Amino acid sequence: MPPRPTPAVAEIMAALRLRFRFLNLHYEAAWTESWSHRRCLHNHTTLLEAAKCAMPRGPGWYVFAVEHGTPRELTETEEKIVSEFRFGPGTRFRDERGTPA
Ligand SMILES: [Zn+2]
Repeated sequence: MPPRPTPAVAEIMAALRLRFRFLNLHYEAAWTESWSHRRCLHNHTTLLEAAKCAMPRGPGWYVFAVEHGTPRELTETEEKIVSEFRFGPGTRFRDERGTPA
């Protein structure tokens, strides 16, 4: 029977997971088509790569992150990068969802 991980090992593993979270992170493009949600299923390593994949899908696209296999919304910083790509640099935003003012 393998030994149980000690709390110290569990703590180290948690710290490593956090430190190297970018290794388990990718971005995907998503859009709506015929009233259903679609996603590109690519493993884009950057936000801009995912945004470029999303753009030809029409106006209702967005980018989301997948971390350890679980989709999540973009952080405010990530959202700002995508919004600046979409609407141009220096665009002022009304809210944290990236809606231009
Ligand atoms: Zn894609």
